[in-house]
Formats: sequence, C-alpha cells, structure tokens
Amino acid sequence: MQTLPEKFLQRMQERLGDEYPAFLASYKAPSYRGLRVNTLKLSPADFLELAPAEFMLGGQITEDGCSFYTEGERLGADPYHFAGLFYLQEPSAMRVGELLPKKFCRVLDLCAAPGGKTTQLAAKMQGAGILIANEIDYGRAKILSENVERMGISNCAVISASPETLAERLQGYFDLVLVDAPCSGEGMFKKEENAIPAWSEENVKMCAARQKKILDCASKMLCAGGRLIYSTCTFAEEEDEWQLRDFLKAHPDFSLQMQQKLYPHAFQGEGHFMATLSRAPSEETARIRPFCIQRNRAAEKAFSAFSADFFDGFVPDGGIHTLADGRMYLVPDGMPDLTGAHLLRLGAELGEWNGRFFKPAHALAMAFGTRARRILSLTREEAKRYLRGETFSSALEDGWAVVTVDGFPLGLGKAVGGTVKNHYPKGLRLRS
Ligand code: SAM
Repeated sequence: MQTLPEKFLQRMQERLGDEYPAFLASYKAPSYRGLRVNTLKLSPADFLELAPAEFMLGGQITEDGCSFYTEGERLGADPYHFAGLFYLQEPSAMRVGELLPKKFCRVLDLCAAPGGKTTQLAAKMQGAGILIANEIDYGRAKILSENVERMGISNCAVISASPETLAERLQGYFDLVLVDAPCSGEGMFKKEENAIPAWSEENVKMCAARQKKILDCASKMLCAGGRLIYSTCTFAEEEDEWQLRDFLKAHPDFSLQMQQKLYPHAFQGEGHFMATLSRAPSEETARIRPFCIQRNRAAEKAFSAFSADFFDGFVPDGGIHTLADGRMYLVPDGMPDLTGAHLLRLGAELGEWNGRFFKPAHALAMAFGTRARRILSLTREEAKRYLRGETFSSALEDGWAVVTVDGFPLGLGKAVGGTVKNHYPKGLRLRS
C-alpha cells in the first residue's frame, strides 16, 4: 500500500486520540468485501441454500442479506452475479440501507453510480413506487443503468443531469432523497489506492463546497415531512459533521435524526459517514408536471401480441412509452416530467419496435422472465457457456425463450428448429 499523506495521518491522530493506533493498524488487516443478496429475486435464506462453497459466506447476515467474503474470489464472474442474485458492495456502504424509512414511494438517488445504493433502495421498494437514479457523469450513468437492469428492477428511471437542473424542475416532489456524495474518499484508501495521491486539504475543502451545493439542491426536491439521507466514504469533518451543522443552520425546516461515523478499526468495513435528516411537515404541496407518455398504437399492438405468446398470462402493468427510435418502456405511474435530464432508462425496458416487428429487450427477461412460457433451464456450468455466447439444442417450441440458471433469468434466447439461439447482449458477455 502507498504511504498515507502525513497531513491526513496528523488529522486522524487529532480526531481519534487513543483510538489512533487501532485505526492505523486497520490498514494492515485484510480488506472486507461485501455481498448483498438481491431480495427482489430471492430471500437471504434461499440464497444461502443455493450458494456454492466458494461464496464462503460468513459473518453477519443482516435482514437485507448482507455478508462478507474473502479477497481473491471472482464472484463478479459467477452466473448468479449475471442473474442479479447479489450485488458486491463495500460492507460499510451497505449500512446506509439501515437508515431507510419503513415506507417511502417517491425516491431520488441523486449521486447514484455505480448503483450500490440504488439497487439497495429498489430491493426495499419491492417494485412499488418510483425510483429515480441520477448520475451526473454520463459514462458512469451507463454502468448504473446496466446494474439496474441486471438486478431486474422495473420501477427505476436512470437519468444523467446536474443536481441544479433537477432542483429547478422537481421541487418538493420526493419523500426520500439520498445524497451519497462525491467526497475526498478517506475511507477508500485501502480499496482504491489512487485515492491516496489525490488527497489534500485543498481537495477536502473543494469536496465540502461541492457537497454543500448538492445538499442545497437535494433539500429543494424533498417534500415537507420527507427524509434526506446523507453519506460519504470519508472521515473529514468538513465533509461530514460540519457539513451537516452548516446545512442545518441554513435550512431551519430540517432537523438531524441521527449521524454515525463508521471507522475501519471499529467495524468490518473500510469506513463511512451516514446521517438522516427530516424536513418539517407543512401544508405545502408540490406542483410537478407529470411525465408525458408518448403512445404508439402499432407498437403497443405488436407488444401485446408478443406478450400473449411469451408470457404465461402475465401482463406487465404501467403506461407504455415508445421513443421515436422505437424503444419501448413501461413507465411507473406518477413518473414526473424529466425534461432537461439525459434519459438512459425509464422503468422497465420492454423492447424495440421497428415498424414491422417487436424485439424483446434483455431487461424484459431480467425483470419479468420468471413469467415466461418457454424457459431453457441451465446448470451453473451450462450458464457460463450461455454467458459466453453459445447456442443450445433443446426441445422447446419455436419462439422467444428465457434462459435461466436454477430458475433465475439470465437473458433471452430464440428457439428455432430444436436450437436455442443465443441473444445474450454481446457487450455484457463473459470473457473466457
Ligand atoms: N451511490 C453510489 C453507490 O452506492 O454505488 C456511489 C456514489 S459516489 C460516492 C458519488 C457520485 O457522485 C459519483 O458517481 C460521481 O460521479 C458523482 N458526482 C460527482 N460530482 C457530482 C456533482 N457535482 N453533483 C452530483 N454528483 C456528482
């Protein structure tokens, strides 16, 4: 590991006092990595029954199915990962899930990529309500969108916009806003060594100024009585406790419910800061323009004919929005107008209508594939071959099919004359 900045160590020593030697020793201990079971797909108990020995699950399993595994395992290349059965997430970052209120239905994850907390929020929501996951960096937003798809989330719009752009249009709309802020990353030094040379006191100040602006935007988008969750993966007070102290001074209608710093010497994880604030109730109500669904009757008719053949009677619920390029989405009821934001995903992607044929999307299989009529069930070894692009022989009747591993959808195939052609997206395939 690279040498830690002298000034950083000095600040930590002043902050931690007697605990400082234990903190320093934590850098020599092995890293904890986290795995969170996707409860949209299965329960933690079912996952444990299914998971082979190499998962080495141990430690605590929380209600959300969080566990830790040793370094060196390539769980990201496991078929269950491709099937969205779990998300690999740093253990202390997962703890933010504990702050989620029991009930919430209009949720904004303002700094969302790559999607650890978005997918955690979605699991809590169990498909109900509206989740908007925003990431300012378009390249990172694409990764976020892929993770939302892999986890089979159907009620999430993935967008890319600045917090300022969103705050202008979505005032008072959300009952829960999560700000997992970009920060100086002091809790990431072990996991991402390039965070070490990037650290300086100037950078801490720059991050704090940026967080202040993001929090200000977030506060505007929260409804009266709503909840704001703030988190960072840094220990600097300027970005954590002092940031919130200044925020509360500037926003008297907010109050602090709790705040907690997770240090690596006191918890199995690399470190995090998390807090919950709530906005006072009031009579005010938001006036938000609803999302304008663009209907295309011909495309909808084609989808309906496809559904009758593909599903076992299941009819996906929601308004169907067809873009000018033919891509079709199932938009959750109550979606607000998102003009000004770059839209990457608008709920569950259904497929594409080219004016003559409807072609189902990979996302459709991931979100609703368990309800398909034609299913090609594969073992874990066969699943790896499917993920590499192989075709399979099968007695399935001709038509679009869902390919599964142990009953969990991996993607699409098309049965033609005793062969199931591989329709797993080329860009997502498993490399040898
Ligand atoms: N919540 C994510 C998760 O759990 O996977 C991690 C978010 S990461 C800590 C912070 C994100 O904020 C980064 O993806 C970064 O691109 C984004 N970001 C950077 N500058 C920003 C800004 N000015 N406004 C909003 N987000 C910003």
